[in-house]
Amino acid sequence: MTPTPPSPLPSPADLASTDLAEVERIADALGQVVLGDFDLTVQTTSKHPIVQKLALMVNFTLASVRQTMEQNERVESALKSQMFLMQLIDLQTDLIFTLDTEGRTVLINKAACDFLGVYPEQVMGQRPSDIDHPQKRLAQAVVETARRIASTGKPMLNLEQRVPDRDGKVHWFKSNFVPVMDDQYRVTQVLFVMSDVTELREAAHEMGVMVNDLQQALKFKDQFMAVMSHELRTPLNAILGFTGIALMTGDASSQMQRMLERIDFNARRLVSLINDVLDLSRINAGRIDILWERVTIRELAQAWHDSFLPRATAKGVQLVLDIAPDLPETLETDPDRLTQIANNLLTNATKFTEKGSVTLSLRRLDEARWALTVRDTGIGISEAYQTAIFEEFRQVEAGMQSKYGGAGLGLSIVQKLCVLMGGQIAVQSKLGEGSTFTASLPLSRPALIAPKEA
Ligand code: ADP
Repeated sequence: MTPTPPSPLPSPADLASTDLAEVERIADALGQVVLGDFDLTVQTTSKHPIVQKLALMVNFTLASVRQTMEQNERVESALKSQMFLMQLIDLQTDLIFTLDTEGRTVLINKAACDFLGVYPEQVMGQRPSDIDHPQKRLAQAVVETARRIASTGKPMLNLEQRVPDRDGKVHWFKSNFVPVMDDQYRVTQVLFVMSDVTELREAAHEMGVMVNDLQQALKFKDQFMAVMSHELRTPLNAILGFTGIALMTGDASSQMQRMLERIDFNARRLVSLINDVLDLSRINAGRIDILWERVTIRELAQAWHDSFLPRATAKGVQLVLDIAPDLPETLETDPDRLTQIANNLLTNATKFTEKGSVTLSLRRLDEARWALTVRDTGIGISEAYQTAIFEEFRQVEAGMQSKYGGAGLGLSIVQKLCVLMGGQIAVQSKLGEGSTFTASLPLSRPALIAPKEA
């Protein structure tokens, strides 16, 4: 059987004028493409196979041009973000680099190059240990580490290492070495991020030395205070003893009597100041123990009232004791420290009140707490000073000391004692109208303040 010969392609000479017009339209369309319109598709109404094939080929070519252009764009944007990332990595002060599983450099930032003493071009694609540079030993260790991590797949995190730089100066690095895996969980690279923490460590060390010095100084201050207060209190007690005897015998002239009274008054002020300073330094050094015991609170409050009554009466100020009926008969507290709190508050209230009254009231606050309140109708404290008065050596105005005496320690001691006893102190006051100080305290030893081991 003889094969049928292929039907001959129609020749361009067969093109009708309508087909020719279509060819011309396709040519015009191609002109648009040259001007940049790559989204174009060519369609033809011609039935002529050559014209149809031409349209098909043009569309096919345009489609592949578009595909190539998209790929190019993707590559370009990937390159751009890679360059951006590289710039970002270069800006870091940490040493950042990645090595492949054979220890060859894939990426390295400026800080790492500077530390090693190499140029990026010199080390890229090379094992840092194979090329000549000042940090060869470090490079060897790094390559070995990369190989180890590549074979085990285990990261090494938060390592603290001493690493000498190329001038021999020791740096401390905190480092993370992490395997980088592909989608089959195979390690392809190892990422090294090393942060220079030398300054931080030095600062921490200096801080430690300073804290040590400070603790030492505080210890000396405490010892000094203890010795000084003893040294001062002994002669002061002698002075108080002698003035007391001299005042009792009544032999002195009235002028001498006044002088003795002034000596007595000032010596007492000095003793109380020394006691305050000593107390504060003991509290600050954490050397004060709260000795909890069950006390009959009404008896204690009555004693405070009785001891302040003469002082208040002498000034023409009424002293009121007001105990709420719901206050328990007994409660757990440190009677000496509580007395210190009450004494300080009552001393201030009588000192800063010229007329009216001072009221000491005790009441229950809730299931677990009670309140000791000292209210006066004295000079009051402006709002601006109501926080500052609890700071050491703080008084409302300079010059108060000469008028009222005191060193600005009492309230600071009161506040610290309240906190040590698991409570707190608050003040409410209005200038010219009076002040109310409220110490809220636990009815029994708080669970958190555990008894000391015997
Ligand atoms: P001081 O020994 O100077 O009284 P405090 O710490 O006890 O020290 O008090 C600090 C300052 O707070 C006092 O100097 C005074 O200015 C003010 N202050 C304290 N209590 C009262 C009060 N009841 N009325 C007015 N001012 C007060």
